[in-house]
Amino acid sequence: MKRRIVFATGNENKMKEIRMILSDLNTEIVSMKEAGVDIDIVEDGMSFEENAEIKARSVARILTNDIVLADDSGLEIDYLDKAPGIYSARFAGEDTSYDIKNRIFLDRLEGVPDEERTARFVCAVAAVFPDGSVDVVRETIEGRIAHESAGTHGFGYDPIFYLPEYGCTTAQLSPEQKNEVSHRGKALCAIKRKLKGKIGDDLL
Ligand code: IMP
Repeated sequence: MKRRIVFATGNENKMKEIRMILSDLNTEIVSMKEAGVDIDIVEDGMSFEENAEIKARSVARILTNDIVLADDSGLEIDYLDKAPGIYSARFAGEDTSYDIKNRIFLDRLEGVPDEERTARFVCAVAAVFPDGSVDVVRETIEGRIAHESAGTHGFGYDPIFYLPEYGCTTAQLSPEQKNEVSHRGKALCAIKRKLKGKIGDDLL
């Protein structure tokens, strides 16, 4: 039977990126919803790594025969003492649109010079194996908060996350380009190496 990897997220935008990045594995990638798990997970960790592990363990407790992956990610703005950080999804309310959330950060950084607008996306990915062991990796992509929103690709804070070396925001990259350089792309590649090391190339 083909091995299955369950990804503990309810975020469809993330699932799209995850499926693309893991598409070279000889494995079915399913969301927790597709695996029939419908639970509310309380993310009360104090770091991206802790929250990723909390999410993966919560689903692995139910799906004891599967490898369960989970990510926790967010935006750190240096000028704002690394806010919104682990509260990126909850910032200004979970149901508030990103047009509004992005506007808030553009306003807070109004007049702040380029060199003080440094920021990064962070992504931690945890893998919980049926034997109960866990691996956690963390990757980042460095950039700056733009002076105005631009681009329609991606999701969340992508329209205000500017990459100086590309001269555009991550919302202006194609999905393939974003996955090659992004925090999530790099973290998923790192966890893929761990999975292959643990389970063997032939099984994945
Ligand atoms: P999580 O689902 O708890 O990991 O929350 C992640 C939140 O961080 C998202 O809802 C976005 O607000 C933000 N975020 C993480 N990765 C990205 C990205 O690639 N682009 C834009 N925003 C992101």
